[in-house]
Amino acid sequence: MNQIAVIGSGTMGRGIAYTAALSGYQVALQDISPEAVKKAKDYIGSLLNQSVEKGYIKSEQRDLVNQNLKYTTGLQEAVERADLVIEAIIEDMDLKIETFKRIEQYAPVHVILATNTSTMSPTEIGASTKRPEQFVAMHFFNPVHRMKLIEIIRGMDTSDDTVEVVRTVAEKMKKETVEINEFPGFVTSRMNCLIGNEAMNMLMEGVASVEDIDKALKLGLNHPMGPLELADLVGLDSRLRNMEYLYHNLGEKYRPSPLLVKYVKSGRLGRKSGKGFYNYQ
Ligand code: NAD
Repeated sequence: MNQIAVIGSGTMGRGIAYTAALSGYQVALQDISPEAVKKAKDYIGSLLNQSVEKGYIKSEQRDLVNQNLKYTTGLQEAVERADLVIEAIIEDMDLKIETFKRIEQYAPVHVILATNTSTMSPTEIGASTKRPEQFVAMHFFNPVHRMKLIEIIRGMDTSDDTVEVVRTVAEKMKKETVEINEFPGFVTSRMNCLIGNEAMNMLMEGVASVEDIDKALKLGLNHPMGPLELADLVGLDSRLRNMEYLYHNLGEKYRPSPLLVKYVKSGRLGRKSGKGFYNYQ
């Protein structure tokens, strides 16, 4: 296990690629959008410089990441030598299935295929590939370099060897793991989506301001971040896709807050667009 390909260089993909390269893996970070690749490169460059300045990493580690991490828009180039592919494209089942079909055309036979989906079924995505036993979900958290956990979710056909390989990779990335039996939203997204949605409904009902809802959960319930600032960090478009999947699969309790729908329609996507529940401009 030496080469990792990360597909999708958005919020999660860039963080996974950075963390993997820092852990000594040879990493190819791929996106269909050249702008997204450039943005990821700029983000990782400034994260490296800040981390060295603040003393979180040594300058040799910055050199290691620069040496280990390659950026590309070419899927074949990214996956043809990969031992592990981690997919971090948008939360859309059809697109994920189609992307894995294309990955399989180029990747070596032994490759382990992992999806970073927040909610979706690794059984369903895995079943659409030629190697469901080599398919698993590896659910990272945002920001990847700081968050300790990876949820490992087995599909029905995921082999023990596959779980063992991704657990070893997670350990090398200095992450803790939990093993989850597949169910929509796993443990964390299922819980977190409900809390965030309730906060948005409270805001819509005029129960309290954005700041006071977040403050109440931080100081009253000891959450490290408020649910609205966390939704901004996740990306409101990503959160809406998660809610829609959970609503479709688990029912009424997960109906997306109309406020979330309205924010996404208006282009308020959170930090990534400069504006969400808070203003980042
Ligand atoms: P994002 O919108 O920030 O980035 C997605 C990237 O995928 C974009 O750069 C887009 O250009 C690229 N892309 C789209 N189609 C592609 C394709 N066919 N091939 C290559 N690249 C493609 O999304 P994100 O927030 O990073 O989420 C990615 C995945 O990670 C989703 O499944 C999401 O549910 C999951 N996730 C997100 C978070 C979070 O906090 N944002 C946390 C855990 C898991």
